[in-house]
Amino acid sequence: MATPWSLSGALKGMFARKTIDDATWDDLEDALITADFGPDLTESIVAELRASVRRFNTTDPADLRRMLRETLEERLSTLDPTLHLSNRPAVVLVVGVNGVGKTTTIGKFAKFLGNYGRSVIVGAADTFRAAAVEQLATWAERGGAAIQRPQQQGQDPASVAFQTVERAQREGIEIVLIDTAGRLQTKSGLMDELGKIKRVVEKQTEIAEVLLVLDATTGQNGLAQAQAFIEHAGVTGLVLTKLDGSAKGGFVLSVQEKTGIPIKLVGQGEGIGDLTGFTPHVFVTNLIG
Ligand code: GDP
Repeated sequence: MATPWSLSGALKGMFARKTIDDATWDDLEDALITADFGPDLTESIVAELRASVRRFNTTDPADLRRMLRETLEERLSTLDPTLHLSNRPAVVLVVGVNGVGKTTTIGKFAKFLGNYGRSVIVGAADTFRAAAVEQLATWAERGGAAIQRPQQQGQDPASVAFQTVERAQREGIEIVLIDTAGRLQTKSGLMDELGKIKRVVEKQTEIAEVLLVLDATTGQNGLAQAQAFIEHAGVTGLVLTKLDGSAKGGFVLSVQEKTGIPIKLVGQGEGIGDLTGFTPHVFVTNLIG
């Protein structure tokens, strides 16, 4: 599958040459930088590949291509992408800055879980804007999930989360997805709000996952914006959205190495079915061809 973030175009010329030479290394470095691997990661990958090429005493670009695939896959596989959803109900908090694709992701995730036979309820704990609740309700419906709405606009988000979990327990719904606010202007208020949601829910049951949604097209910038969530929200997994857009593949590896948090899901489109689990092998195949 050709993807906009594919490296294969940039690498094609390089691998088409007869032998590995200085120009090969320059081209590889340029391709990795262009793909948003960042200078440190690029340097470390190139150094590792140079060592492998020396060790195997090869000058064949096909060997280098295989080594590049192996090193990327190996680096992406150091963290475990498994979603831990065996609690009943399994409560998942979904956090992230507004606009990254949080609402859409919740709908897609409900659908994804429904495909595995799981029942899902969505909690609208971003209670500030009525329009946001309605948008979430639309996506919950598309995803085949029930929804717990705030009883009035501006209701305490933690109390909506509480009511959602209570309803799941009462009705035997297996998975709870809690939508949370993402207004960056009130960063400390936002973190307090998340802290309160967590404390209230933890009195009812264990929290299974805290998923941070990141827009992959915003690259390092988006990561800087989301830093407060990483520092304060106890994030257990990342969801990268918009990988079908102008995202650059290198960001995927650099975000995982920088945060030390596994990527668990990837969004690749605006449709209800456009969310998949993260599989390093598939990702690297798409990236390198
Ligand atoms: P929220 O403010 O974080 O809840 O963001 P939304 O879920 O409303 O999404 C913001 C915009 O991003 C919408 O136009 C979505 O259709 C779009 N979007 C979300 N996920 C993806 C994705 O994986 N790919 C693409 N191309 N667009 C996406």
